Parts: sequence; structure tokens; C-alpha cells
Amino acid sequence: ESNSRRQLVAGNWKMNGDKALVDKVQKQFAAATLNNMDVVICPPFPYLGLFDGKVKLGSQNISQFESGAHTGEVSVAMLKEFNCQYVIVGHSERRADNNESSSLVALKVEQVLNAYLTPILCVGEPEDVRDDGTLFDYIAAQLDTVLLKVGISQFADIVLAYEPIWAIGTGKTASPAQAQEVHAFIRGHLAKQDNNIAANIVILYGGSVKGNNAQELFSQADVDGGLIGGASLNPEDFLSICQAA
Ligand code: PGA
Repeated sequence: ESNSRRQLVAGNWKMNGDKALVDKVQKQFAAATLNNMDVVICPPFPYLGLFDGKVKLGSQNISQFESGAHTGEVSVAMLKEFNCQYVIVGHSERRADNNESSSLVALKVEQVLNAYLTPILCVGEPEDVRDDGTLFDYIAAQLDTVLLKVGISQFADIVLAYEPIWAIGTGKTASPAQAQEVHAFIRGHLAKQDNNIAANIVILYGGSVKGNNAQELFSQADVDGGLIGGASLNPEDFLSICQAA
């Protein structure tokens, strides 16, 4: 822990896991000792109803619509019935696989906020953007589309995740200094509109976080926890990452 913000570690199972993993994770966490922090598991939709309340729940996606004739979609109201408190929005895999634009992402954030759930809004650059030196413009543009839609005051109820695309699932973690640099930029960008909201917003790092690098990443001044993909599928590894927060 490196600041007064409460740390959060979220496990994003992506399209992985099964009922047996739900059981294993619940057993692991029922017996675990954790610091004063939040743990959130984001399993695929069908598994949300199997959790017993020991960990907080998040979904990996949400419809931009409230209800009705939208085949294949899941609404925020349905998530609430399954005690889901968080929703990952704008993950780079959805931006890539499902052509989710920043303006669609903004609509989804709005939908989540309207239901009083917490969006975990993901931003992050592809490798060529980092290489050509336009990293900060790219991140600012992703944030600005949402800022324009919902307004800065709503960011009091948003969690951000910085996930450089080149670090996701690649084993190529951003260095603690690289993560800190972008987290500080994000906080500074929000501070131009509201100092207090910028100081209090939780910003997670995601991209190849493991048991052996979590502590150093989480100890950076502007890193408030992590969004964990691959390592969240191993309950022991995930617990050790949570214990690093
Ligand atoms: P990873 O995924 O930990 O497997 O790199 C992170 C994410 O996509 O949230």
C-alpha cells in the first residue's frame, strides 16, 4: 500500500474457468488473510450466480441498453440480481474482437453508473503508439470520450485500469516506472478538471501481473492495485497477488 486510496485487485477470467474453479477460488478466499483491500472476481456471466458472497463480483461486459429486444445482451439490472457490483468496460479485447469504439464504451459506462454499479474503465495503448511517441494523446483521447459523455463528477464512482495492450497476456509487464508514468499522467489529466476526484480515483494496472511482480507495481505512488488476467485463473497465484496489495 502506497497511499490513502483503498487498493483493489480484480481477477478477469476472460472466457476461461469452470464450476470447479468457482469452488476452488471460494475455498481459497474463505481461509485467506488479506490487508484492508477489495478483491473482485469477474467470471463469465453464467458463473456469477454460483458465488457465495466471500468475494465481490464483477462482470466483463454489459449492454449499452437498459432492456428489451437486444438478443444476446445482458443488462445491469440482471447483474444486480446476482450481487454484481463492478463491470469491466472497454477492455482492449472487446475493443478489438467486437469493434467497441470509445463512444460505445462511454454509453456502457453511463449505463453502469445509472444503475449505481462501478465501472472498471480500461484504457491502454498498442505497442506502435508507444513507439511513435503519441502514448499520452492516445490515453487522453480514450478518457476524454467518456469524460465528455458522463462528466468529471461521475468519475468519483469509476475505477480506471491502465492496461498497455502489448503487456496483456504476453508476459511482458510494463516496468513499475512505465506504469507509474502513465498512472500519474491519467491522474494529472483528470486533475485539470477536478483535483479532488483525481486524487481519490482508484487506478489499477493490468498486463502480465504475477505473484512475483505485483508488490513492486502496487507500491508505485499512483498504482492502486491490479486487473489480473492469466494469473487470476490460479487461485494460489491470485491470492498472493491480492496479498501484495
Ligand atoms: P493478463 O491480462 O494478466 O493475462 O496479462 C490482463 C487483462 O487483460 O486484464
